[in-house]
Amino acid sequence: MHNIDIDVVEMTMDIMKYVIGRITRSNPDMGLAISEEELKEKVGETITDKGIGGMKAFELFREVLVKHTVPIDNPKHLAFVPAAPTRAAILFDLVTAASSIHGSYWMEGAGGIFCENEAMSWIVSLTGLPKGSFGVFTSGGTAANLSAVVTAREYWRSKSQDNQCKRGIILCSSQAHSSVKSMVKIIDADILTVPTQESLTKKELITAFEELSAVDQSRLFAVVANAGTTNAGVIDRMDEVADFCREKDLWMHVDAAYGGGALMSDKARKEFNGIELADSITIDPHKWFFAPYDCGAIIYKNPELAKKAHTQQGTYLDIFNQKGMEGFNPSDYQIQLTRRVRGLPLWFSLAMHGIDRYKQAVDTALDLAKVAAEMIQDYDHLSLVRPVSLSVVLFKREGWTPEDYRKWTLKNLADNFALVTPTKYQIDGQMETIARFCFINPETTKEDIKAILDSMN
Ligand SMILES: *Cc1c(COP(=O)(O)O)cnc(C)c1O
Repeated sequence: MHNIDIDVVEMTMDIMKYVIGRITRSNPDMGLAISEEELKEKVGETITDKGIGGMKAFELFREVLVKHTVPIDNPKHLAFVPAAPTRAAILFDLVTAASSIHGSYWMEGAGGIFCENEAMSWIVSLTGLPKGSFGVFTSGGTAANLSAVVTAREYWRSKSQDNQCKRGIILCSSQAHSSVKSMVKIIDADILTVPTQESLTKKELITAFEELSAVDQSRLFAVVANAGTTNAGVIDRMDEVADFCREKDLWMHVDAAYGGGALMSDKARKEFNGIELADSITIDPHKWFFAPYDCGAIIYKNPELAKKAHTQQGTYLDIFNQKGMEGFNPSDYQIQLTRRVRGLPLWFSLAMHGIDRYKQAVDTALDLAKVAAEMIQDYDHLSLVRPVSLSVVLFKREGWTPEDYRKWTLKNLADNFALVTPTKYQIDGQMETIARFCFINPETTKEDIKAILDSMN
């Protein structure tokens, strides 16, 4: 397979040409999904006994298939949590793949893991966690949250014989990300949610705790706090959650998958005060640290506890801990064994641009949210639903039904114009469908925002 023939060279040039074209394009077309049958009709059989050839397969991808995807880095993609990977990071994603590094063990991946750890040290420093805290890159926030809750549960069970046959309970606000609820299901624990749309406070935690029976109180082992809810950008009271966890001897996990980027901002940093008291923190570099997918991160105050929970044993793995082979093994701290050195693209981009550029990019998104909120006040039929939090803007169009929001979303996408999706928010006790912006991409402009707001006429 490694005989380089002329076709491979030509294909490489073709692919590089595409990549250069794509990453230098700041306004990639919005694609629209079509059915599987329609896609099949357009491309025909692609997996055959003899192969259809690289040129043909690439042509199908470039001319047909990629056109039915929505580029997350389009500056008018303001839905969900968009992304805007730096060009440097995307290029280094190619280098990461081409270098074929096994990122699980130091013995095989030392040089690459070193780079990941350099980037990780900086991320850890943003959290303010004490010396000795450290983390690893995961496939995303979901895997990071799972790695954290497994560590928390194993630690809790190790604390007393009594805990070993108990099913655990995790406490969080009703705004916790869907992945938290899913991951708690995976570890077969129960979840107790405090109904709120605002920052979770100690008072609410105490009330929830006191409503539990004595048996259930003894099953509670962790609180998951939001540092930037996905829906509204709300940050729970970190200091108060930390206080509560200390008093009740509970693990404090902070889900900052989306919000973590704002730790870079000198203006926003104070809203996170108390995060430095967490036992573990999830941050998604593929959201607000401008890394390509898939790049999440889990950070622990005491990485040894994660190691106890996650280190995999096997006769074929023993060699990694023998003399001359030892070092930092990322597989010891999260759920995955074989892994690419997924922090490498981030490392290259950080090394190239420097931290200041990252801070500026995050501040730009925070500013865009404020600008959008101000612009919304200029339209009679538009109004803010709640104050801007981080880079999320929730607003509504007077007189619109859920169906109007849906049609507007689809039309914008079909017109290759924008992707802005509705969400729901409770207003005066009623769940209402509303519009939502989430800013990440520093290349989004005020004109883009105005054009989108104008489209709601
Ligand atoms: C995106 C997100 C997640 C899930 O992360 P993935 O990278 O999609 O797995 C978890 N929590 C929050 C708050 C998020 O915004």
